[in-house]
Order: sequence, then structure tokens, then C-alpha cells
Amino acid sequence: MYKDNHLLAQLRSASLGRGDDVFVQGQGGRTFDAFFANAERYAALLAAKGVEPGDRVAVQVNKSLEALELYLGTVMTGAVFLPLNPDYTASEIAYFLQDATPHMFVHDPSRKSEMQAAAQAADVAHVMTLDAAGGGTLGDTAKAMPDGFVPVARTADDLAAILYTSGTTGRSKGAMLTHGALASNTATLVDYWRFTPDDVLIHALPIFHTHGLFVATNVALMAAAAMIFLPKFSPDAIFAAMPIATTLMGVPTFYTRLLDDPRLTKDITKNMRLFISGSAPLLAETHERWTERTDHKILERYGMTETNMNTSNPYDGARKPGTVGLPLPGVEVKIMDGSGAELGVDEIGSIEVRGDNVFAGYWQMPEKTAEELREDGWFVTGDLGVRDKDGYVSIVGRSKDLIISGGFNVYPKEVEVIIDDLPDVLESAVIGVPHADFGEAVVAVVVARDPALTAETISLATAGKLARFKCPKSVLIVDALPRNTMGKVQKKSLREEYNNLFN
Ligand code: AMP
Repeated sequence: MYKDNHLLAQLRSASLGRGDDVFVQGQGGRTFDAFFANAERYAALLAAKGVEPGDRVAVQVNKSLEALELYLGTVMTGAVFLPLNPDYTASEIAYFLQDATPHMFVHDPSRKSEMQAAAQAADVAHVMTLDAAGGGTLGDTAKAMPDGFVPVARTADDLAAILYTSGTTGRSKGAMLTHGALASNTATLVDYWRFTPDDVLIHALPIFHTHGLFVATNVALMAAAAMIFLPKFSPDAIFAAMPIATTLMGVPTFYTRLLDDPRLTKDITKNMRLFISGSAPLLAETHERWTERTDHKILERYGMTETNMNTSNPYDGARKPGTVGLPLPGVEVKIMDGSGAELGVDEIGSIEVRGDNVFAGYWQMPEKTAEELREDGWFVTGDLGVRDKDGYVSIVGRSKDLIISGGFNVYPKEVEVIIDDLPDVLESAVIGVPHADFGEAVVAVVVARDPALTAETISLATAGKLARFKCPKSVLIVDALPRNTMGKVQKKSLREEYNNLFN
């Protein structure tokens, strides 16, 4: 009965013959049939509230299985699922609601008064609540709805979701993702990473972001694999899950935190077949330490909200530390210079991608869309990268983070790699800040592993290895780098903090 809804049909087909199998393990878990029946109840309720194909359903709730069922229920109605980070304030939510004009907004009951005011200002027709235990006005009413909702027909070109980008500069943009982009990328990943019904995936990522919502959940569903669904990352819960799980999808901070824990051993990971990392750069050192401790080689991949996954290290071939691997089947990747010419091996440039995985444009931003998504389908990712002789891509940073000092380009990564290599350094972020003589000056913000670390040690190391214009004009030792929930270092906030360093 799901066959006419492009995404749903593909997410459901592998589990149809095995509806009694467990999809989500543990108390409060679900069989595949129970999971989809609940999604049908949400769909029936949404339809009863007048949600129509193409309408947006905005959802700002804590991570729960019910929230995943609501995602699929929304897709069943032909509407567009729009997840929002639970950390957003009411005024941030007001912007998203005004921009996306959803027919329904679902929020956590604990934030009723502020969220209702935001929704009222945006004229949202229906405002309902859902808590992490499945309660709230939406959850309670859905329980009384019948299952068996017949999904609305949708083609590959119809929208399934809008995800707002984290918006490191300017207004946050709504990336429009079609049924076809999500389904085709999921099918590629299931195949490339060899997911089967025998897999048990540890899901510890947030579900308002492409990594936890699409990469993890869609892959598990399409493969009819089971999940251990954790409310958030916690080493205790991960170590408890590892002996009965087979795969983990994580951001690099998961891996560094697990490495800090003496419970990480070859023995505890022996049932696992695959560790995947993405959403932020995994240091080569982390990759190597993980292999020493567990005998597993972390598989790093690269993607973004707008494109789903673009490249991945191979399952069978070499997984090269510090690289994001090869273009996935069906995804074209090229590295371009500023004049629009394609660059060759070992030349750093702007990464562009094309394929069925790429989004349909930014919601109500035709100019932004035209700037970044060309008519011939190439998307300018905003990332800088380089390809080695074997075709492996490495990410050098965001183009916005490129430093131009005295007229010369400095790629933060080439400085960071040298600093991170020092034994007393835990990690670093290199940024450009305004400077009267140089335009921008290179500044290194460093977290020490050993408190005895000094700025001079770092300056000496960089002076020995880098051209003078690339060497930091200032080295600042700090306790921690600012990161968002996906573990990405927030260079914009560092630039703001040190904006007046040379003035
Ligand atoms: P988001 O849209 O929040 O998923 O962020 C996408 C951005 O995260 C990309 O454009 C990259 O800058 C960065 N990113 C994702 N995966 C990786 C990776 N494996 N290594 C380095 N950067 C990554």
C-alpha cells in the first residue's frame, strides 16, 4: 500500500516480509510493523487537521522514537517534514515559522507559552505538543487514531523535507530535499556500507540533522536493520550496546570521547563490523589511535544537509586517515579554481558535486539557489578540498574560513595539521582576523594536552615547517574550542571573539 509514495515505498520494502522483527531494541522499542502502524496514526491525525501534500510540518521536539514516527507519518501525508533543533530559542523559532509558513507546528509541552506566542506571530494554523515519552496533545490524540493510513502518492521530484542549514553566516537557509534525493542516497549507502537485516546500529545522534535523521534512520529502515536508539551520546550507553551491536555512526567527538575511556578495548568492539564518522573532520591521529585500540579502521565519509552523502572511504579498499574517501556511486565530484577551471591531483580548490543526491534549492531564496546550484546540476558546496592520485578527497575547510594574509592564501588545515601533530597539543583551530598591514593575520587557537605547553613551542614548530606568511602571528592557548551539537568547531564565533586582537 506504500508503493505510490516514492520514499516510503523504498524505506518499507525490505521490512515488509519481516514485520515482526525488532526495529528498535529495548524497552519502549518497536517491531517494524508497530513502528509503521504508529507512523500511520500520526499521518491520519495530520490529515484530519487539514495537513495537505506540500504543506510544511515544523517539529521542535526532544529525540524520541515518536518523533521518528511523526517524520514518516508526515511523509505519508505528502507533506514536508521540517525538524528544528530543540536548543533553538523562541525568537529563532519565530524566524523559522515565519519563513517556512508551516500548517502545523509541534513543540515540547514544557515550552508552551513561549512557543505558542512564536507560532501565533507566524499565524500557524495548528500548534500541538509531543514529549519524549510520546505524550502531549499530538501524541495522545494520535494513539486514538486508526492505523492503516494509505500514504499519499508522491514522485521522486516531490519534497519530503526541509532542513535548515546551521547558518554559519547570514540567515539560515532551508534546504529542500526531495523524495528522490533521500531515497537514492539511502540506497547507495545501504549498498556501499553493506547494511543488512543482521545489522544492529547504535543511534546516538540528534534527529533534527541530516546525519541522525537521514543517514542513520533511513539506512537502517531501508536495510531492515535494527537500531539501539539512545536519547543522546553517552559512553556508558555506547559501551553497554557494543557487544550486541554491529555498527555505529558518529561525529568525531564520539570517537575522541570513547578513546578517553579505558573501557574501549578490542574485546568490547569485537561484535562490531563498522564504525562510521562524519559531519566534521576526523583527525588522522584519532583514526590511528582507534585502530591501535580496537583493530577497527573508522570509515570516514563526507556530506552536507544540501547534498546528503557525497564521498566515502571504501568498505573493502584502503580507508585513508585524514581523507573522506571517493565519490559515492552516482555522485560526481570536481575541484575547481576561482576562474571556473577544473583542477588536477593535489591542487586545492572549491568542491562541486552533482548527482541525484543533491537538493532542489533553498526554500524561497531563488537568488541564493542560483548562486550555489547551477542549472546544469552542479552544486558549489562551499568546501575547499583536494584529491590525491588515487582519487581520495580531503577537505581543507570551508571557503569562508580561507585566510588571505598579505595577499597569500592560507588554508587553515595546513597550519592545524602541524600544530595538532605536537605531542602536547590536543587540538587547534586556525582563523584569520583583521590586521592593518596584512588584511588578515593568521591566529592559532590551541587546546593543550599538557598544561606545560607554551605559545613559543607552537611558534617554533610552525616556523620550522611553514612559509612565513602561513605562520600564526598570534597563538592563544584556551581550555576548549567552541563546538555545535554536531561537533563542528565554530570558527565564526572564534573570529568574533578575537576580531580586535590586532587593533
Ligand atoms: P551540515 O550541513 O551541518 O551537515 O554540514 C556540512 C559540512 O560539514 C560540510 O560542508 C563540511 O564542511 C563539513 N563536513 C561534513 N563531513 C565532513 C568530514 N568528514 N570532514 C570534514 N568536514 C566535514
